Amino acid sequence: MTSTTDWSLVADELCANGKIFVNGRYINAHNGAIFVKQSPVDGRNLTGISYSSEVDVNNAVCVARSAFEDGRWSKRLPTERKEILLKLAELIDEHKEKLAILDTLSMGKPIRDCLNNDIPLAVTCIKWYAESIDKIYDECVPSRPDVLGTITREPLGVVGAITPWNYPMENVAWKIAPALAAGNSLVLKPAEQASLSAIYLGQLAVEAGIPDGIFNVIPGIGEVTGKALAVHKDVDAIFFTGSTEVGKLIMQYAGQSNMKRVALECGGKSAFVVLKDCVHLDDAARVLAQNIFSNQGQTCTAPSRLIVEEDVHDEFIDNLMQYVPVYQPGNPLDEKTNVGAMVSRSHLHKVLEYVEIGQNEGAKLLTGGQEAYPVEGGAYFEPTIFDQVKNDMRIAQEEIFGPVLSIISVKSVAEAIKKANESSYGLAAAVWCENLSMAHQVARKIRAGLVHINSYGDDDITAAFGGYKQSGNGTKDKSLHALDEYVEFKTTWIRLNSLDTS
Ligand code: NAD
Repeated sequence: MTSTTDWSLVADELCANGKIFVNGRYINAHNGAIFVKQSPVDGRNLTGISYSSEVDVNNAVCVARSAFEDGRWSKRLPTERKEILLKLAELIDEHKEKLAILDTLSMGKPIRDCLNNDIPLAVTCIKWYAESIDKIYDECVPSRPDVLGTITREPLGVVGAITPWNYPMENVAWKIAPALAAGNSLVLKPAEQASLSAIYLGQLAVEAGIPDGIFNVIPGIGEVTGKALAVHKDVDAIFFTGSTEVGKLIMQYAGQSNMKRVALECGGKSAFVVLKDCVHLDDAARVLAQNIFSNQGQTCTAPSRLIVEEDVHDEFIDNLMQYVPVYQPGNPLDEKTNVGAMVSRSHLHKVLEYVEIGQNEGAKLLTGGQEAYPVEGGAYFEPTIFDQVKNDMRIAQEEIFGPVLSIISVKSVAEAIKKANESSYGLAAAVWCENLSMAHQVARKIRAGLVHINSYGDDDITAAFGGYKQSGNGTKDKSLHALDEYVEFKTTWIRLNSLDTS
């Protein structure tokens, strides 16, 4: 769906708020510190964003703690929390154009993806948890007749959420929706590359009726602001989405401080397995191209390793190459553009380095590998494919987080499974195979949290999302399983005195 809006004009007139949002109000950092946010679309300066220090983080956590303890949200009826969160979802939808332009300018994603994908999915997520919260029952245990054992859910308390920049609104929604639905107070630290939409949510939270102090946003740089939140002794849990490297630090911070609960959603190097009995090679190629090149390749589940049986290798590559031109980057402010800018020039340089690494390792560059769509200050990169990749090469093992595909040929199904699993990551995978029985057996053997058969990216809010191995620590986003991460389960035993009925 496209609109008649001139997004370049909207961008030129944009006035973005980069302040901290705490206790229902926008404030500056206590020392007035800011960092300047430049757009990867064209290098323009967007605004100064408050740089929350330890003092600001502590202030936000204290506010969130007292708001939690007085029960202004945690003790509200589930039906009341539901109505307020539904209102928040409605407001996000009403303000989607503003939120979309903030995200496009911040991280280069096409405006149409923000409008038609990220924001609607964030709205769905918030509505889904809002609707869930008054339909969940606690439990009675099947124990002895002289006791009644119950297991009840209680909110955790003060929850910290640290989010990445690649799907700014969606990743924030995955955390705030279950956290708030479950009755927690929240301190959100969005990625420094894309904080503006999260900051904007503050005013929507107030308008929706979320009490002051329950939803707080502390922008800042990871090593300072994020760390201060993760080591804070009065934060009960950290819900983190980001790189595996930082995920490991978050675990250490929890251990060094108060052993807070840690839930990690981290990186990936997902395998897209095409077996020789796949009869829909063109469909497989189309789906692969879409999932590795969309969002400029900056998707945690992007299928960045194609593992293909050699009998169908050439035909599959011919099909795949036809789709490459579809994913050439363009101006993300044009609603016809399907691939925009990478998040920053520094990230683009990291991807360029991987192209050099791949060539030095002996992989064959089939297409791409260069900057594209030259705009001063912009960060655009061609869809890139390497063939003749060995699975132990760095380009096959490390998360490049760009539109770069590595093709690995195998001689058998067993080798395909082995190569798919030879990775420190285990986020997602696909198996393309006509024989469903075989596809299912392969899917079972792949060590990944999400496996698609003859598809990719079909997952929605109803199913748990999270990785095996170093893609996460087993916790889940989405579905009712995620809601369980945001509560404590309390067991209560009640002794039943025998009743004299004589
Ligand atoms: P990142 O790890 O650099 O940053 C993520 C967040 O952590 C940001 O808010 C950042 O400011 C913060 N941070 C950085 N250093 C920190 C520190 N020392 N202490 C506390 N916080 C710190 O990741 P990114 O570049 O923002 O995002 C890309 C990564 O996120 C990729 O690895 C991608 O696979 C992953 N990701 C995973 C999922 C998933 O669901 N598994 C979803 C989206 C993105």
